[in-house]
Amino acid sequence: MVNREKVTSRFIDMVKISSPSLKEREIGDYLLKTLKELGLEVYEDNAGKENGGNCGNIVGILRAPNKKKVLFSSHMDTVLPCEKITPIIENEIVKTDGTSVLGGDDKGGIAAILEMLRVIKENNLEHPEIIVVFSIAEEIGLRGARAFEIEKYSPDFAYILDSSGKPGEAIVQAPHSAKGEIKIIGKPAHAGINPEDGINAFTVAAHAVSKLRLGRIDKETTSNIGIVKGGEAVNIVMPEISMMYEARSFDGEKLDNLLKETNDIFEEIAKEFGAQLINNVKKGYAGFKLDENLEIISHLKKACENINLKCELKSSGGGSDANVYNAKGYTAINLAVGMSKVHTTEEYIKIDDLVEMSKLTLEIAKELAKC
Ligand SMILES: [Zn+2]
Repeated sequence: MVNREKVTSRFIDMVKISSPSLKEREIGDYLLKTLKELGLEVYEDNAGKENGGNCGNIVGILRAPNKKKVLFSSHMDTVLPCEKITPIIENEIVKTDGTSVLGGDDKGGIAAILEMLRVIKENNLEHPEIIVVFSIAEEIGLRGARAFEIEKYSPDFAYILDSSGKPGEAIVQAPHSAKGEIKIIGKPAHAGINPEDGINAFTVAAHAVSKLRLGRIDKETTSNIGIVKGGEAVNIVMPEISMMYEARSFDGEKLDNLLKETNDIFEEIAKEFGAQLINNVKKGYAGFKLDENLEIISHLKKACENINLKCELKSSGGGSDANVYNAKGYTAINLAVGMSKVHTTEEYIKIDDLVEMSKLTLEIAKELAKC
């Protein structure tokens, strides 16, 4: 029932509409119109106003009283360069002329969601209550999802269509992460005349770093110092050193503990040497880790099985709107759409994957209609 030509031409139409972050008005209007034509209740929220953009999150609702509520979401914005996108189809692959990204991230997801809705409406299929969210400003810090009042709709399950990888793959865990600069301020002095008047920031840092836990800390936790900069001249006691630090863990508490431990060590050693510590390490997206036995995953597995897709559960180092919804207390997983080489001008997507993803989205909806 999924129609290859329809989903492809819809996808092509959408990627031609330029939609950099916070400038989603045109694609937003296209989607408002399309959702209305499909017979959904349609809203636009305040996320645009709150974030200084020209369009809010576009929300569509397909009611089904007394049924489970499922949220399907993809983001409308694309990374630069995307001012003018010229899609080209070659060997059943959609790519660009090489001057821009394609924007399959995340219009591939949007195309699959729209195709699922079209098939349900045209064939009068049983469905759960479906809440569709096309979010803004995902690429600049998940800002649309953060502003979206998900509690107004309180979905039982949230499927985000926004990952690279083959349809059937799903991100069920993403780490909590933190990164930033750690700086030690010592004191300069002439290295040959009066070194005893100086405080070598490098010496301080070396003492501290030798006590840190770095690298693989346990199965779910890592940390690293990736960049070090310091010094002015070979004959000056190094007055300042800067280290770029990052840490990740699938367990939020472990990350908090590690960050505290790292700060404590630097603080103690700096004090010992009379140096000063400036720690600018900040936490990024909240991570999540879903239990394999959760219903959201069993429905996905069943849906994959129904259409002979291999279901693979994976973890991701990156953030998506799924991180935001999990942090807000709603179970969300991020499904692979087939988009490849995203955030580059070589980005492409296979038409087969667009079709498979539409089928899978439809199959998830059909599965959830049964419960
Ligand atoms: Zn994306």
